[in-house]
Amino acid sequence: MNSKMIDLSGQRFGFLTVIELHKKEKCKAGTKLYWKCKCDCGKETIVRSDGLKSGKVVSCGCYNKMLSSEKAKKMKNKWEQTRVDGAVCATLRRKTQEHSSKYKGVHFDGRQEKRPWIARITINKKTHHIGSFETEKQAYDARKEAEKVLHDPYLEKEKALKGVVCSQGGDAL
Ligand SMILES: [Zn+2]
Repeated sequence: MNSKMIDLSGQRFGFLTVIELHKKEKCKAGTKLYWKCKCDCGKETIVRSDGLKSGKVVSCGCYNKMLSSEKAKKMKNKWEQTRVDGAVCATLRRKTQEHSSKYKGVHFDGRQEKRPWIARITINKKTHHIGSFETEKQAYDARKEAEKVLHDPYLEKEKALKGVVCSQGGDAL
């Protein structure tokens, strides 16, 4: 029945050393063999023959975890470089336009008859409703005021952080 059963005991695959056959499982393609392996990190794990032989499985999972945490570290660094307290300063500075107004953070809501101009500010994915106004300009002014309160702390902090980076370079002005 298992004429082609290959004993992998004692063989090494990446960080894994095969200890013994764990179980056999019959399927359409034949018999799948599962091996009990010991990982270099000390953990035991069960791996199917084809996983070992194809080189897809090289550890108990610790290797992948290590790789992904390296990746996570890099991503986190990148994230911290572009954000200050979680806010993207570049986004705050960008003067995007909403469709209904030439001013950023202002939009026209036709359902509000008396005060159709809505000002709002989005920071850290949170939208602060500033108010609704009769004119576009009023909404814009209100938004500007709100920016001072809501954006400036972030921008100031960014400036401070950049100052630190610059002084490390030794090129003090
Ligand atoms: Zn491991």
